[in-house]
Amino acid sequence: GRHPTAQPAGPQPVAGIKSIIAIGSGKGGVGKSTVTANLAVALARAGRRVGLLDADIYGPSQPLMMGEHRKPASPDGKTMIPVQAHGVTMMSLGLLVAPGKAVAWRGPMLMGALQQMLGQVAWGELDVLLVDLPPGTGDVQMTLSQRTRLTGAIVVSTPQDVALIDARKAIDMFNTLHTPVLGLIENMSHFTCPNCGHESHIFGHGGVAAEAQNLGLPLLAQLPIDLETRLAGDAGRPVALGDGVMADAFAQLAAGLVR
Ligand code: ADP
Repeated sequence: GRHPTAQPAGPQPVAGIKSIIAIGSGKGGVGKSTVTANLAVALARAGRRVGLLDADIYGPSQPLMMGEHRKPASPDGKTMIPVQAHGVTMMSLGLLVAPGKAVAWRGPMLMGALQQMLGQVAWGELDVLLVDLPPGTGDVQMTLSQRTRLTGAIVVSTPQDVALIDARKAIDMFNTLHTPVLGLIENMSHFTCPNCGHESHIFGHGGVAAEAQNLGLPLLAQLPIDLETRLAGDAGRPVALGDGVMADAFAQLAAGLVR
């Protein structure tokens, strides 16, 4: 028989949040968190109400990159108040565990933490929530896509073959989960020598662009290896807060994503 009171199945929206975009990668270390932090800042600068959920629960780096380490308050003991950093509303497991401590939780506990960070955080009204995923194709990505209605996912990769092979798997996973892939970002696409201006392709050349073309997906940005970007990330002041080539690139990326 029918059960008219049964919960609707499938991914659910989060109240108050217009659009949720997940940022993934096949491999770690390709710049996924750097791109997410800078995109969040660029969206905030463009006047968007933006949230950043650091779901990279094994290696949360947003507290460092956004320069915000305060523990979120929970006045009622149920709901957590996210922190504010550079105009971005942020939540990270890194804010809840002691610094330098490993998260030694099993899958179900991590999934619980993820659901809590989405459902029991007072995000308020947001135009867009960016979710910094862990690298790869694990439980977090699957649970998020299956339970939460995502606008789409962005996959960050370097042009290096080993990174691209894994990026392809991440794209395949999103396809399987019916999460639209909004496009690819090629990070560390080249390095311009500050002394002589020579351009080096340290991780290869154009690999992500070619992959995007093969798959019929938009190439959203090609970002160079940039010292200031690395320094700004380590200092907790994303490069997108300033002005210059990288800040412009992130502003352009932001404008293209949320109109
Ligand atoms: P992931 O989230 O993919 O593991 P991160 O964003 O943590 O990668 O980046 C790894 C390291 O590379 C960080 O130290 C970061 O500052 C640096 N990095 C990322 N993108 C760039 C870039 N375009 N230029 C220079 N350094 C970068």
